[in-house]
Amino acid sequence: MARSRLEEVGTGDRIAGVSTHSIQIFARGRLGHHRPTLCWRVAYLTPPDDLASLLPDEPGYRADQLRRWLYVTPVLDPEAMTNLPVSVRRGIRLWPFRVAADQVGDGGTTRKWLFEADDGAQYEAVLMGYPRRTTLCISSQAGCALGCTFCATGQFGFERHLEAGEIVAQVAYARAFLRQIGLPGSPDRLTNVVFMGMGEPLANYNRVREAIRRMIEEMGMSPRSITVSTVGMVPGIRRLADEGWPLNLAISLHAADDELRSRLVPINRRYPISDLEEAAKEYAEKTGRRVSIEWTVMDGVNDTPEQARLLADVARRIRAHVNLIALNPTPLSKERAPSKEAMDRFVQILEDLDVNVTVRDTRGRDIDAACGQLRAEKGRRQPISIG
Ligand code: SAH
Ligand code: SF4
Repeated sequence: MARSRLEEVGTGDRIAGVSTHSIQIFARGRLGHHRPTLCWRVAYLTPPDDLASLLPDEPGYRADQLRRWLYVTPVLDPEAMTNLPVSVRRGIRLWPFRVAADQVGDGGTTRKWLFEADDGAQYEAVLMGYPRRTTLCISSQAGCALGCTFCATGQFGFERHLEAGEIVAQVAYARAFLRQIGLPGSPDRLTNVVFMGMGEPLANYNRVREAIRRMIEEMGMSPRSITVSTVGMVPGIRRLADEGWPLNLAISLHAADDELRSRLVPINRRYPISDLEEAAKEYAEKTGRRVSIEWTVMDGVNDTPEQARLLADVARRIRAHVNLIALNPTPLSKERAPSKEAMDRFVQILEDLDVNVTVRDTRGRDIDAACGQLRAEKGRRQPISIG
């Protein structure tokens, strides 16, 4: 490899004590940016049991120390891993991404990060702080193939699955951020994780499963603090029910009859509402967790009294709590947010029919923190290739 192609890396990464395990090769991209294409092995992309392979010249206990830094007390910068020798700290690359954008909203209580992998794939996470809890919304894929009409990620299309390490690194990054920087007026620990960022988690089942396993077994998070949101991939719901974790399951329903749902959520043609109901019931029985229904409310589309009554039937049959969220309009769809009157009427009908309903707050609207928006705004980056 020609010397001229070995270059210093950007933010947060360091090259020192370069070994065969820690060679980075960078290419000059089309715009003259330096992008890693063939990386030294990144700590969060390395299975926790293999961490010793990143530290071939170190005694065995160093891998355990590193594992604790990664999963128990995460830090933003390897320099802060104070019980590791400087040469080790400098030879480690922690994050599988660079932070391409970091936005602050809602008076500092919402933080949104756009991450960019070495191949140019972008994905985002949103951290929301409340007085007694902090919730991180994470991505499971760069883009999404399922094409729900009102969703910015769906409109953008599918780029690739995220690796388990890329998924868990979003959680670690937020935990490190809370420990070291924090959100004003909120706990300094992460209390909830929701898979409601970009992508369909159950379409990337094995990697999502491994990411959840690391959250539970390596990070010590309770499965009850993790919510998997799915558009209704029935086989995935069944597999998840058999994992033995009492995770929260959110079903993105949005329409309570097959005709309307197939229009808004194309995958409904493969897994219609009746199949979804069966799978949701089975999930609740096997895990003992109540399922929730997500309903993005759209003006004149699914905010009608008829849809409210049909939704109440579904919710009662599967004993689900209903979360309503007003549509965050996207540039490529003509759908609009509902009027306040329509929203109030919708809630009233559900309540009158004894359905448990919450109107979700619209955190992050000032920084376009709905599903995939920031990335849609920035447009697609061309992944680079190296010969
Ligand atoms: N693919 C999964 C998880 C990611 S989407 C799913 O669909 O459930 C997370 C949630 O954001 C879903 O309930 C989805 O319907 C909702 N959502 C997508 N686009 C939205 C928008 N423009 N406004 C409000 N909610 C939206
Ligand atoms: Fe994909 Fe969920 Fe968006 Fe539908 S709503 S396109 S499943 S990310």
